[in-house]
Amino acid sequence: EVRSHKSQKRQFNTSSSHMTIMPAWVIDRYGSNSVLRYTKNAAFPIINYPNEVIIQVHAAGLNPIDVSMRGGYGAASMAMKRDPLNVKQSGSEFPLILGRDVSGVIMECGLDVAPVYFKEGDEVWAAIPPWKQGSLAEFVVLSANEVSKKPKCLSHTEAAAIPYVAATAWSALVNTGGLTMDNCAKKRILILGGSGGVRTFSIQMLKAWGAHVTVTCSQNAERLVRGLGADHVVDYTAGPVEGPLRALEKFDLVLDNVGGATESWALGLLKPWCGAKYVTLVTPFLQNTDRLGVADGMLQTGVTVAAKALKHLTKGVHYRWGMFAPNGLALDDISEMVDAGKICAVVEAEFSFSQVPQAMLKVEKGHARGKTVVTVP
Ligand code: NDP
Repeated sequence: EVRSHKSQKRQFNTSSSHMTIMPAWVIDRYGSNSVLRYTKNAAFPIINYPNEVIIQVHAAGLNPIDVSMRGGYGAASMAMKRDPLNVKQSGSEFPLILGRDVSGVIMECGLDVAPVYFKEGDEVWAAIPPWKQGSLAEFVVLSANEVSKKPKCLSHTEAAAIPYVAATAWSALVNTGGLTMDNCAKKRILILGGSGGVRTFSIQMLKAWGAHVTVTCSQNAERLVRGLGADHVVDYTAGPVEGPLRALEKFDLVLDNVGGATESWALGLLKPWCGAKYVTLVTPFLQNTDRLGVADGMLQTGVTVAAKALKHLTKGVHYRWGMFAPNGLALDDISEMVDAGKICAVVEAEFSFSQVPQAMLKVEKGHARGKTVVTVP
């Protein structure tokens, strides 16, 4: 069924105004992998604003958040983003399309976009915000400021392995952590968890900017992270990492991809009273809003983060939460770094469009050593 749509696609006119449906993998309710459904009849995306573009998807990258969203994670906050006035019925997000990374070709541009920023036929990549329909479909509509020209040296499959983790790393390290290409030289950075998507990207960007990078990961991931440039590797499967890390020179920034108990000791690894920061990507923000509702959840989140930031400020270090944020401009810079050979795509597994459930299971199993990508015919 998945393959047979190919011939149908060729009959389409290049203008989206002729199309009303497209093939996609959707979910109609939250749950386990069995809720994934292939359909040829998903609604074709529509340009609603002059700054939007429609992209024909060539490859879709998967992230742990796709598995979490399949199960309903973040549903309350996403519903508020999609429908701020709360006029729609609950469940109006279905059929929901997952997939947060896209590499593809611009198929149609809003009036404000062409020809200044993009034009039809441009090869582009983007990280798709979780409140928008995703890339496990033949087409996706995005704001032009979320989109960037894809690196020329990468295939679509390789390109789809980068945007979401890159935008997350950029948000955490640059916007929250204050690191830039110009202030990174010789800074000591610790990445807790070094072998997944966010970290394999972060290691490369930080090394390209001249930082000294220490990572924790499983022993069998050491070759991968050293190959990406990590200077020092601590095996977390050999025992608690706190002791070996305490024995090292203190750090200017800790990026925490692991969460949980790490918060109780990782801030002690920072250089005190010189602007050093701990940035964690593992935050209870969406759990709070799912559990308490958007207003109370946001209040709870604000109180929690403010209390923690204040507590650590008195010890001379900064405590911050990192969040994914869509960022086409950052992707422009990253695209240049990729084409300059400073960052490579780490594709661990590639699946065809008919194998989306298997691809989701791969991500769900964890122990990632790079990214899982679905090619879209
Ligand atoms: P991945 O699934 O790609 O990677 C997870 C990696 O962590 C695996 O390689 C795993 O390998 C390793 N790992 C697990 N436990 C530990 C540990 N205790 N110490 C060291 N390594 C460990 O995840 P991503 O890179 O995409 O995401 C990383 C984290 O960031 C996730 O927790 C995710 O939820 C979060 N995130 C948050 C975002 C936000 O907006 N706040 C956005 C994106 C991601 P192994 O188990 O074999 O050691």
